[in-house]
Amino acid sequence: MSISEKLHSLEFTLQLGCKLNCKFCPQETLIRNFKLKGNGITRLSYENFKKCLEKVEKGATVTFSGMAEPFHNRECAKMLKHAYKKGYKIILATTLVDMTLEDFEIIKDIEFDHFILHIPDEEGNSKFLITPEYLEVFKKVVNSIDVEYYSCHGTVHHAVANLIKKDKYAGLDPINRAGNLKSEEYQTYSPKGKITCIVGTDKEKGKWAPSMLPDGTLVLCCMDYGMKHILGNLINQSWAEIQAGEEYKKYIAGLEDDTIDILCRQCNGACEEKNLDSTKLKRALEELKSNPNQTSFQSLGGKIEEDAINIMKKIISARNICVFGLGKLFRDKYFVLSWNKGICANIFSDNNNEIWNKETNGIKCIPPNELTEYKDLLIITHMKNDSEVSKQLDDMGLYNHINIYDIYRIFY
Ligand code: SF4
Ligand code: SF4
Repeated sequence: MSISEKLHSLEFTLQLGCKLNCKFCPQETLIRNFKLKGNGITRLSYENFKKCLEKVEKGATVTFSGMAEPFHNRECAKMLKHAYKKGYKIILATTLVDMTLEDFEIIKDIEFDHFILHIPDEEGNSKFLITPEYLEVFKKVVNSIDVEYYSCHGTVHHAVANLIKKDKYAGLDPINRAGNLKSEEYQTYSPKGKITCIVGTDKEKGKWAPSMLPDGTLVLCCMDYGMKHILGNLINQSWAEIQAGEEYKKYIAGLEDDTIDILCRQCNGACEEKNLDSTKLKRALEELKSNPNQTSFQSLGGKIEEDAINIMKKIISARNICVFGLGKLFRDKYFVLSWNKGICANIFSDNNNEIWNKETNGIKCIPPNELTEYKDLLIITHMKNDSEVSKQLDDMGLYNHINIYDIYRIFY
């Protein structure tokens, strides 16, 4: 297990207790356990927020969501702005309850990485108070912020039904919150063998982040309402110290060994290794090698698009494969989701000269100009928008390049 100095992502719960008290949320479990295991501080101060943020790598993802509505904390907007100005990628999941027009003015220019809006339901499963003030803020938000999707714990409430974009409504999908909700309404999970956390969306899998409670207690993730895994305290400890602790080591060991009792063994976010997209890619490449003319793949569940086959052909016909771009996306996914086992790159490269000639898991990062020395080279640009790097590679006469999303798209 490698120890990193700073966190690659962090989720904040800014306050203990959520007024929404949703039917599908184990708030009572959290409050009961916090009374026993927390130190009594129920609201995160701005000073402690800044202190903990410093322990997160620059440019990494910071999520404002956790186990309570973030705007219950009066300093939420200020914290969001501060984190954004510091260069972090911001995810906000909010109900807008307790958000004011002043808060809106503070956050309206933030370019959110993801903005998820939890909206009221007719059944009252989430206890919204739909006041004129709430609706005013709601309209301002949906008209000026790019909402990624709307979540709702029932039928969309008539007061907001005509204000949202219907194609962004995600529908109701109650989950058992890693076993913290126990009733026949919920599907149960018990993944076996080696597992990986793939929480996120179909298009953006793998966003594991430990969740920090207002007193600094760092629990495994936003599913850990029972505070089963207290990794440490981020106000008092460094991330390196926390990783060296017994609970973090237990979590890591538990991902490999299903006899160790970790929360993930009851969670829908855990994926058995054999079902990871990267494992499927590996098997599909083997199938394609043994029969280059096939269009249907057992490991991918049947027939696939010609474009996807062409991408796979590029991978199997390359003698050298370079992953270009070792930034955030690479750190979040390449090894974490085992893409290294499907893609099998033997070279890394990046425009950042500070990492040239350094190794990551035994593979050297070379300066881009050295790429021309490799024969039968396929370059996989590992970033969301690769237009500049594509041009750079074309200008060097390196035309055989694809983007990592060309590979991800094989699976959705
Ligand atoms: S689901 Fe979200 S809004 Fe509802 S009670 Fe839980 S934290 Fe609050
Ligand atoms: S798989 Fe584990 S770490 Fe990931 S969300 Fe579930 S409980 Fe949390």
